[in-house]
Amino acid sequence: VLVASQGFDFFYFVQQWPGSYCDTEQSCCYPTTGKPAADFGIHGLWPNYNDGSYPSNCDPNSPFSPSEISDLQSSMQRSWPTLACPSSDGQQFWSHEWEKHGTCSESVLDQHAYFESALGLKQKVNLLQALTSSGITPGGSYSLTSIKDAITDAVGYTPWIECNKDSSGNSQLYQIYLCVDTSGSDLIKCPVFPHGACSSEIEFPSF
Ligand code: 5GP
Ligand code: 5GP
Ligand code: 5GP
Repeated sequence: VLVASQGFDFFYFVQQWPGSYCDTEQSCCYPTTGKPAADFGIHGLWPNYNDGSYPSNCDPNSPFSPSEISDLQSSMQRSWPTLACPSSDGQQFWSHEWEKHGTCSESVLDQHAYFESALGLKQKVNLLQALTSSGITPGGSYSLTSIKDAITDAVGYTPWIECNKDSSGNSQLYQIYLCVDTSGSDLIKCPVFPHGACSSEIEFPSF
């Protein structure tokens, strides 16, 4: 039987480590609401296709509307802080994420549901605790394998690790990708992984 298509196959739920955003050549700016916690923050919830490609900017008629998520404001500031310069309160980052990615899953999640889903996933998946309980703490250097194993053991699914480089050129833990079903609520085994290289040993810088 044919099942109606949502226009995408799954989501990547992507979290960023603030220490690795900030210690790069480009540096960072703290949000106007203050320095974020030393914890992973949400980057985005991105609709994706099983072949690795993805839709973007799907609905120019659905602009980001802060009033629709006013009840989520304080959770957003805590869990989805912006680190881009110049400093801002985060609305620009959330607006970008909604318009580029969120509009592509609008048939399943309206704006409020989209942001609420991402916040719910962050609650459900405590990456810092997963790493820390395996002895992987900020300020150290670890094998890519040990980081992946710690997360796989804790959440039940293999993540993808994206690395970037600090200002001295060292490879470091930047973003962690997990896959989520089209309802935006449950983790699934990733149908396809992103690309990009890490070293076999990577830094986990402090923040
Ligand atoms: P970069 O080129 O820095 O890896 O990614 C730039 C942006 O492109 C990301 O922040 C995200 O918006 C989008 N992007 C990159 N890779 C993927 C992907 O595999 N799936 C989706 N849905 N978006 C991606
Ligand atoms: P992407 O298209 O890569 O999903 O979104 C990245 C865009 O969001 C860039 O324009 C970037 O400047 C902006 N941005 C604002 N705050 C942040 C942040 O904290 N992390 C990242 N990765 N991008 C941010
Ligand atoms: P394998 O599939 O044998 O684990 O890995 C194949 C290649 O992909 C190896 O070069 C390995 O270092 C790389 N790789 C495996 N997992 C990840 C990951 O989560 N992130 C990145 N950037 N590379 C990975």
